[in-house]
Amino acid sequence: MGDFRRYPGCRLLIACSACSWSKAYDPERVIDRLRALRAGGHATRVADVARRVQWTCPACGRLRWRAQFAWPPGLKPRDIRRLADRYRN
Ligand SMILES: [Zn+2]
Repeated sequence: MGDFRRYPGCRLLIACSACSWSKAYDPERVIDRLRALRAGGHATRVADVARRVQWTCPACGRLRWRAQFAWPPGLKPRDIRRLADRYRN
């Protein structure tokens, strides 16, 4: 999960493998939540985060999640550089 710092401004996208419904999360908040649950943190792999999702897909009702980092639409290269600078400090 800690890799999100290499993709400034990215979101963790949890997507249904069955129907491609998806929802984006703030990676820092996901890490905070893993820590609060004593279930992991920066070292937790993205694939393991997907496995921990316990709710079923609101579109098709199945439980087949995958996770990946993705940039939200509309984020400009300039914004990405600015965020990269922020993480370095
Ligand atoms: Zn689905």
